Amino acid sequence: MNIVLFGYPNSGKGSLSQKLIECSFVHISTGDLLREEVKTNGNYAHIIKYALDNGKFVDDLVVFDILKKHLELIPNNTNLLFDGIPRTIKQCITLENIINIDFAFELVCPKNIIFDRAKNRLVCDKCKRTTSKLVENDFCSVCGGKLVSRLDDNIDLLTNRILDYESKIEPIRNYYISKGIYHRVDASVSVDFTLKQVKGVLNYGNN
Ligand code: AMP
Repeated sequence: MNIVLFGYPNSGKGSLSQKLIECSFVHISTGDLLREEVKTNGNYAHIIKYALDNGKFVDDLVVFDILKKHLELIPNNTNLLFDGIPRTIKQCITLENIINIDFAFELVCPKNIIFDRAKNRLVCDKCKRTTSKLVENDFCSVCGGKLVSRLDDNIDLLTNRILDYESKIEPIRNYYISKGIYHRVDASVSVDFTLKQVKGVLNYGNN
């Protein structure tokens, strides 16, 4: 079973993904894959860094080349959870040509909460776990990695990323609605509440 998550930046896709990993999904975050390519100084490092530093999308050819190579490392029949892709209707069709998507969840959250979360968001540079300054500081309580703020969480870049999301999401939403797999979940309260709604749709734990 393969699912995609989409929603504003900071709508909680990363935190929800961490919970879904415990339900035997393998988390594939294109943002993480791209940041890793920069960190390891891979072939595309310069192109990606420019896009990340400027709040722009990375070119589709780069995204899908990295994604396909990553997918080759994952055994068949693994439950996949895509986070950060598709960002455009073109990516949506390309992804569908690579892999069948069974469920699409849009995490819905008001913008004032999105900005509040960005102010406090920390990410572990080792295990990639997302957390908040309201919960912990400096070092990851799970793996001991360094907790860092994301450069693209600053107000200007975040505003750009939100506008980008709003300008591109409608055809993606309509695509998944027409496929009969679109589900809207409230992501404004807590990750556990979001998880509960997703599990309800997946019928998880009831089989
Ligand atoms: P995220 O971690 O999903 O918020 O992504 C962080 C940044 O990585 C985005 O602002 C884009 O610059 C880039 N990125 C992530 N996923 C994609 C994608 N599917 N297509 C293009 N760029 C992406």
